[in-house]
Amino acid sequence: MNILVINAGSSSLKYQLIRMEDETTLCKGICERIGIDGKYSYKTMTGYKVEKEADLFTHKDAFDVILHEMVQGEGHVIDSVNEIAAIGHRVTHGGDKFSHSVLVDEATIDAIANMRDISPLHNPPQAATIRACRTVFGEALPMAAVFDTAFHATMPPKAYTFAIPYKYYEEHGVRRYGFHGTSHRYVSGRMAELLGEMPHRLITCHLGNGSSLAAIKDGKVVDTSMGFTPLDGIIMGTRCGSIDPSIVSYIANLENLHERGMNRLLNNESGLLGVSGVSSDFRDVLEAAENGKERAQLAADMLEYQLVKLIGSYAAALGGVDAILFTGGIGENAMGLREQVMHDLAYLGVTADLAANNSRGEEVRISGADSKVEVWVIPTNEELVIARETVRLAKQAKA
Ligand code: AMP
Repeated sequence: MNILVINAGSSSLKYQLIRMEDETTLCKGICERIGIDGKYSYKTMTGYKVEKEADLFTHKDAFDVILHEMVQGEGHVIDSVNEIAAIGHRVTHGGDKFSHSVLVDEATIDAIANMRDISPLHNPPQAATIRACRTVFGEALPMAAVFDTAFHATMPPKAYTFAIPYKYYEEHGVRRYGFHGTSHRYVSGRMAELLGEMPHRLITCHLGNGSSLAAIKDGKVVDTSMGFTPLDGIIMGTRCGSIDPSIVSYIANLENLHERGMNRLLNNESGLLGVSGVSSDFRDVLEAAENGKERAQLAADMLEYQLVKLIGSYAAALGGVDAILFTGGIGENAMGLREQVMHDLAYLGVTADLAANNSRGEEVRISGADSKVEVWVIPTNEELVIARETVRLAKQAKA
């Protein structure tokens, strides 16, 4: 059974076709600059690779191109569209409405699109993409929506409520939702497989362009760092993370900025980029710091400090911690950051295995044999979670 996984943004679309019998990726790639000019990549497990410019005026054009490559192109991996059993879509915001993955019908697509108030950048293009996908692949093909927020739905009210007038929660759904849920779900599930059981008190750190931490008790999220939107929490590539809310009106007045301008400033011009003045990419920031750029060093120090502080607060929330794990581009690769964090968590009984930590993108235990806390690196695989959820729902629908 093959599952196509789609992760769409407003002008890009990542895809992966997974053969579920052995969970192998048959092909994958990305369509970019949709609606601008368009280019795409297509790569198969056997090493065939194309990168091309193409007229991608809409997401439908992107699906046409992908389908053509998969079925008829020189590097085709299937002989007919019928070999795709179902499609799974990543959807950013499930709001209060979707605490689980669901099979998609017209009403679901409308509900996803209708969350434009709380997720203006992601939900409307994702709803439009699902519609375009149905046009190309046909309505009979089962499609699932897997929400980034869903894994965090177990948070208690004391963790998800903001201390603002309660009517904004009741009437407008303003609360902490959390994001990166599929990633936190995958790595925590993998942690349970590796240790033979789910750790009682687990902290997962997804550190990439966007970053979030989750405090997980017996497999259920009790707190997470992203909030109403993915802007909250720890310093990110271009996002500010948690700041004093008064700063927003202060700078808005100072710069005569309105909603759009402020959103741009906090989402696109802040974080590692805003502080370092160099780049949003952590590799560039580290390189600039090594070359003596003080603000780059400051940005890197802030990330490490905030990480240690947040892990400490989650350890307090969980009443201790049994396992900590790193994932995401930074978490999987930034050995120096991991070493420093483990060093700073010595008070929790963490010791490091520095030889094991000297690795990138591998599943490995990096804590020492005498460590009171298991510390691991587990590369994330959000696509696989989406594919598994899609299979589960498609089978349920058939039964
Ligand atoms: P992601 O959004 O998960 O793809 O992660 C992207 C982030 O991972 C960027 O900030 C990269 O600079 C960072 N990253 C990737 N490789 C490394 C590396 N070797 N060392 C430090 N950061 C890295």
